[in-house]
Amino acid sequence: MILLVHMLFGAAIGYTVGNIPLAILLAFLSHYFLDLFPHIEYNIDAIEEKKIKDKLPVIFKIASDLLFGILLVFVLSNNQLIAYIGAFFGILPDGLTIMQNRFPNNFLSFHKKFHTEKVHFLKNKKFSNFWRILSQITVIIISIILLKF
Ligand SMILES: [Zn+2]
Repeated sequence: MILLVHMLFGAAIGYTVGNIPLAILLAFLSHYFLDLFPHIEYNIDAIEEKKIKDKLPVIFKIASDLLFGILLVFVLSNNQLIAYIGAFFGILPDGLTIMQNRFPNNFLSFHKKFHTEKVHFLKNKKFSNFWRILSQITVIIISIILLKF
């Protein structure tokens, strides 16, 4: 799923459990749980391009995804620290996966395999974009309910 969805759900978990160690654990695990559902993502392969102008579009997408996520957490969480902690751990698995390209090691390569192949097992199955987008809208709505009510 896109970063914004993971951040918002992680923030909602942190805000709901109200306990930092539990927020870290559950927000981190929530990433894999959400990625189990069919979802659409933007391609970040261009991040490996050598020339900066070739990677600029994907850097822009990631940056706006992150910024918009932080903005939503800020607006919806009453600016609670635990919500930001949840948001951070909610996207950490994607960070670990990108880090594998830069600093390859056994742990990160095992994690990348687990995350991009095992967890994303529906990636190549036939689901229309309707379901792949609806899944993420549903998570956003659940997160807003957890943060606001
Ligand atoms: Zn992921």
